[in-house]
Amino acid sequence: DWIDFILLFHRIIDRFEMTKNLNVTFERYLPDQAMFVEIDTDKITQVLDNIISNALKYSPEGGTITFNVKENNGFIEISVSDQGLGIPKENLDKVFERFYRVDKARSRQMGGTGLGLAIAKEMITAHGGDIWATSVEGKGTTITFTLPFDSAQEDDWS
Ligand code: ATP
Ligand code: MG
Repeated sequence: DWIDFILLFHRIIDRFEMTKNLNVTFERYLPDQAMFVEIDTDKITQVLDNIISNALKYSPEGGTITFNVKENNGFIEISVSDQGLGIPKENLDKVFERFYRVDKARSRQMGGTGLGLAIAKEMITAHGGDIWATSVEGKGTTITFTLPFDSAQEDDWS
């Protein structure tokens, strides 16, 4: 389906913002205008649900979660940043492997199976995009993914 990604993303963020029980601030840097992408909405929603749940899970009290969307070279680039404990550099790729969890003891306490990001990677790859993690230990984590985006489609309407 052709979906306005910006509207979809706002709705997903709204849902988390209404139900969160932590003192965490959400900051959105999303374009004002619609950006249409051809996606499986349920699957991309599942991807975002996991990324945002992770960000909340690892956010400190009083932290900020930042949402960014921009266009970059034929792709729409989406990122979610938190101010949590971060992921060690040597584990940045491994978090996308099935059942991989950074610190077993810590993760067990947090709950979850270690499948979320592996499923996200499969789904984003199937959509022709890419997904990766950047992190500074003790400062926070950013998960970024891309989806093919044709900005020329806007011209069809003018
Ligand atoms: P599930 O998503 O299946 O409920 P999970 O959240 O543990 O379980 P993933 O979402 O795949 O699994 O994440 C894998 C691991 O990557 C996590 O267990 C955690 O160690 C690490 N991780 C993911 N996101 C973050 C984050 N925002 N900050 C710190 N560590 C993270
Ligand atoms: Mg998860």
